[in-house]
Amino acid sequence: MGETRDNEYEEELLDYEEEEEKAPDSVGAKVNGEAGKKGYVGIHSSGFRDFLLKPELLRAIVDSGFEHPSEVQHECIPQAILGMDVICQAKSGMGKTAVFVLSTLQQIDPVAGQVSALVLCHTRELAYQICHEFERFSTYLPDLKVAVFYGGVNIKIHKDLLKNECPHIVVGTPGRILALSRDKDLSLKNVRHFILDECDKMLESLDMRRDVQEIFKMTPHDKQVMMFSATLSKEIRPVCKKFMQDPMEIYVDDEAKLTLHGLVQHYIKLSEMEKNRKLNDLLDALDFNQVVIFVKSVNRAAELDKLLVECNFPSICIHSGMSQEERLTRYKGFKEGHKRILVATDLVGRGIDIERVNIVINYDMPDSADTYLHRVGRAGRFGTKGLAITFVSSAADSDVLNNVQERFEVDIKELPEQIDTSTYMPS
Ligand code: ADP
Repeated sequence: MGETRDNEYEEELLDYEEEEEKAPDSVGAKVNGEAGKKGYVGIHSSGFRDFLLKPELLRAIVDSGFEHPSEVQHECIPQAILGMDVICQAKSGMGKTAVFVLSTLQQIDPVAGQVSALVLCHTRELAYQICHEFERFSTYLPDLKVAVFYGGVNIKIHKDLLKNECPHIVVGTPGRILALSRDKDLSLKNVRHFILDECDKMLESLDMRRDVQEIFKMTPHDKQVMMFSATLSKEIRPVCKKFMQDPMEIYVDDEAKLTLHGLVQHYIKLSEMEKNRKLNDLLDALDFNQVVIFVKSVNRAAELDKLLVECNFPSICIHSGMSQEERLTRYKGFKEGHKRILVATDLVGRGIDIERVNIVINYDMPDSADTYLHRVGRAGRFGTKGLAITFVSSAADSDVLNNVQERFEVDIKELPEQIDTSTYMPS
């Protein structure tokens, strides 16, 4: 594939990264096939030791400061390390990544020159973050190599890496992975573990689904398939299951419980013109470690960021209109705390884990209840406290907000004059 074709491909990739989310209305889910409801915060009292993981993994888990498995980890890991197919829905921030990272690392036997595990996700930032998790947990498995491949980076770099230092685990976005496999630089014939993160997002959009299918077909029949998301509507579940053989289905809590414990949620009614003023006031008045402000388009992200910088706020923005290198540098900079305000599109609405974010502001209303849930899930990670404020400026905005309240059984109230810092600042 020549450079021109590759560039075309990148364009396609950008397209679906920013594509609107279609959220089919969903219904209640079962709790792991039982009637009983599980604990809310869902941290299980058993230890990681009970999973009988390799000592090298346990050591890395201790280094990471994980003391107890979360509920989703407790439910999934024992089965996943036996090679079962898994489809898993659990709310944001509860440690789904560690489920597939640990289960893969536990099972993998690195063979030189062979890719044994492939993880696909929908954005480059998420791919980067997942790769980082693999690296963190494989610190004491020195022979194991992990690589991340996504568009926007010169494909030759990836091709050379595959030739000279073939990784055992590959994380990537579908466009680039497909390009590398079609060109025969990436051989998928030894893949034993195939993982889709944010699987609903990847399979709902038809062009991404087509890519995933094509990649899937290049892997051997006999393999473990694992899929994860915080939102798995009843429409998408059968689509996911087509890729699997008799999967273990784990739905931790029903949809109504997906809303986040520890997250305080409010809305503000105002007109479009009042938004900037209000945002300024909020940023002055609220206590925050880091805040993410979501807007609906690339242009608005750039403009709002500019405005905030002009008002001397430590703001930065990320959207698909900038180069990959720029996106990643900015993302890393924000993650490391160099800037405290991130203005973003839905590109970072899902999966991204930034520990210090305790406030999310929906400057523009998300287009669906699902998107709302993913966005606000950026605050209050792993059961910590957080605050989500949503601007409501039209009848359509109110409809989405009502839908959120009904679907996730949450009562979102108007932002009061005074809000007690201790309700949303992690102690
Ligand atoms: P999800 O994929 O479910 O949205 P993540 O996998 O991104 O959630 O995890 C959210 C955060 O919680 C991450 O910072 C992760 O390191 C942390 N985490 C995951 N599992 C544990 C655990 N058992 N103990 C402590 N922290 C954890």
